[in-house]
Order: sequence, then C-alpha cells, then structure tokens
Amino acid sequence: MINIQKNIKKINEKIEGACFTASQKGKPSSNNRQNPVTLLAVSKTKPVSALEQAYLVGQRDFGENYLQEAVEKITALSHLTDICWHFIGPIQSNKTKQITQHFSWVHCLDRAKIAHRLNDHLSERILQNNGQDTSLNICLQVNISEESSKSGIMADEVISLAKVVDNCDNLTLRGLMAIPAKNASVECYKKMQYLFNQLQAQYPSVDTLSMGMSNDLNLAIANGATMVRIGSAIFGDRD
Ligand SMILES: *Cc1c(COP(=O)(O)O)cnc(C)c1O
Repeated sequence: MINIQKNIKKINEKIEGACFTASQKGKPSSNNRQNPVTLLAVSKTKPVSALEQAYLVGQRDFGENYLQEAVEKITALSHLTDICWHFIGPIQSNKTKQITQHFSWVHCLDRAKIAHRLNDHLSERILQNNGQDTSLNICLQVNISEESSKSGIMADEVISLAKVVDNCDNLTLRGLMAIPAKNASVECYKKMQYLFNQLQAQYPSVDTLSMGMSNDLNLAIANGATMVRIGSAIFGDRD
C-alpha cells in the first residue's frame, strides 16, 4: 500500500537535498536560498481522500490536469480554504471561464487568445465582486524539447507572449513551465534556466520556473527550478 504522507516527507527531503547540492556547487540556482523550491502535488486521477492525506501533512499546493475532475475535487474540499489550486493541463478556450473561477495558477499558457479570454473573464468577475482582486498567476509553457506531441511555445516566442500576459491587467506573469522529454539532455534544462533568467531580468513579477516531475526532480532543481510538479512519487502510479 502506498503511504502518501511518508512519500511527501521523502520528496521534501529530496528537494532539500537537491537545493543544498545546487547551492554547494555555487550554481546560479543557489538563489533557491531566497527562493525555495515549492512542491506542487499533482493529484490528477486520484481521489479526494488522497488529497486529504497530503493536506494533513502540510501540503497546500495541488495541481490538476482535467477540468471536470478538478472542479469536483475543489468543490469537495472547499472547506480547506488555504489550498492553492494550480491548473497544469492543456487549456481549451471554452474552459477558460471555469478555470478563472476555480484556480489561482495556470502553468500551461501557450496562446495570446487564451490569455485575453482569461483576462476578460476575470474583469467580469471583478465587476461582480465589487472590485475585489482575483488576479491569476501565469506561467508560459515552453516546448523545450520541441516535441510535436506536446503543447507549449518555442523558446523564441517567450518574450512576445510574456508581453501579452504582462499587458493583461488581471494576469500576473510568474514565469515559465516545461516538461522536458524523457531522457532530455542537461542542455535542455539549462536552456530553460537561461530563458527564465532572461525573463526575470525583464519582469520583476517573474519568480517561478515550474520544471521537474517524479523522475527528473534533481536535474530540474540543479538547473534552477523553483517549483516541482510531483504526482506518482507521492500518490503512486496512475492507471
Ligand atoms: C502528470 C503531470 C505531472 C506529474 O507527473 P509524475 O511523473 O507523476 O510526477 C507533472 N506535470 C504535469 C504537467 C503533468 O501532467
């Protein structure tokens, strides 16, 4: 049987170890000292009870890929008001309204049209909520391994899409997200770090490099990841 609570403890230790190693080597990722690595627990396909287990040992950031499934869980757990929900799946334009209603973060923005739709829905909500701030945190997804099967923009499109997001009043540009291909080279991770540093130099709101999953956590942190998205190593394999 999988022990979710033990797994979270193990992953947190692994993250700490990876941060320590990175700082020892004096790599640029040693700014992880001011900017510690956040663990995002990826709970897609897992039941509400699994998320509750994680919550009980202090896990607060959860990532979901499928909107319908996510909304059911978010509704079931709405009494846990300090959970921060991250949408990490591909975004269809007819789902943007629901995303703004339920999530604080979107990790996979890759089109200007989606940015504008998210921003417009948030404007409507702000009017309805008497101006209460409901800004949405955005990471741009970069298809760093240039795989045709994956979504995301190419590296040379980062600056122009960042500008679009930064110009949207209700969106906060937080950084970049990537899913490097299986067995991707270190160069691929370094390229993400370079793009991230470049963006950070231009926009003070940028503080997040969302990179690293169960199988490449160390490599990602060694190359500047500030948020890792871990599913199976916490919740067990998915069907
Ligand atoms: C499923 C998923 C993860 C988690 O993957 P694991 O290998 O189970 O850790 C992370 N990021 C995204 C975008 C995912 O879809």
